[in-house]
Amino acid sequence: MAAKILDGKAIAQKVRDEVREGVARFAAAHGRPPGLDVVLVSDDPASVTYTRSKEKASNEVGMRGRLLTLPATTTEGELLARVAELNADDAVDGILVQLPLPGHIREQRVLDAIAFAKDVDGLHPVNAGLLAMGRPGAIAPCTPRGCMRLLAEAGVEIAGARAVVVGRSDLVGRPMAALLLAQHATVSIAHTRTRDLRALCREADILVVAAGAPGLIRGDWIKEGAAVIDVGLTRNEAGKLVGDVDFEAARERAAWITPVPGGVGPMTIASLLETTLRAAEARVAAR
Ligand code: NAP
Repeated sequence: MAAKILDGKAIAQKVRDEVREGVARFAAAHGRPPGLDVVLVSDDPASVTYTRSKEKASNEVGMRGRLLTLPATTTEGELLARVAELNADDAVDGILVQLPLPGHIREQRVLDAIAFAKDVDGLHPVNAGLLAMGRPGAIAPCTPRGCMRLLAEAGVEIAGARAVVVGRSDLVGRPMAALLLAQHATVSIAHTRTRDLRALCREADILVVAAGAPGLIRGDWIKEGAAVIDVGLTRNEAGKLVGDVDFEAARERAAWITPVPGGVGPMTIASLLETTLRAAEARVAAR
């Protein structure tokens, strides 16, 4: 039986609608909308377009979204000074420094300088640590949060499930594993040194793949009835966006599967909006 498709576009729209309502409630209660500041240090037009889409999406749900574009020649000191200004600005609830930064700027230094209560990318060590400890209040990165929402919308049972996450990046793999563990899955994390990835994947009731390796996961690696979330996003030689899973073959065995594009991708910005609203609510509640 062919798998049901997890329609990221439709679910992302649902998330945005929920956030719009939450933003209106927040603004009515506190006299200002939640504020999201996206900082881009680049002259690259594609990066400007991508970050503009985050600014636009936040304004569309009623937030005060702002894109701060700095030239690629900006020094680390100048960027840290801008981050400090945003940290101190009470109308700013979320700060996102778009990665990658130019080579002369130490990325970790900048990410660590963001006030962790405003770290809507979930890359500050305090948030990563809280998440790893399973503590409430951690801000988790947007993409894995989006994946969790896709699983929830499909009604996939997570507690007790055998989950395999392929990839161990700070942005996707590690936080994804932590979120699944927090919901009581039995989780394995695979990476380039994993032996017999095929055998591991075949055990997975929930398989999340974030390797950036097109075609890595073959159809016969999928356990019958599994939920398959393909985070991978690579542009192939023909200019087409492709995932890490052999979609056509995998859908014959899975119960649920995300397409690429149109699966995880649309969830990421929707999750960013949700995270910003939550950060705003948490900041006012902490006063
Ligand atoms: P990353 O930092 O490059 O990490 C990739 C991870 O996958 C690494 O841990 C790597 O293992 C592992 N890996 C790579 N090839 C592998 C293989 N052949 N077998 C087993 N493990 C392998 O990438 P990322 O930032 O996590 O992103 C992963 C993918 O998701 C990319 O395609 C990216 O474009 C996509 N992505 C999509 C969205 C979205 O919104 N849809 C958001 C973020 C990322 P090692 O640690 O051993 O090197």
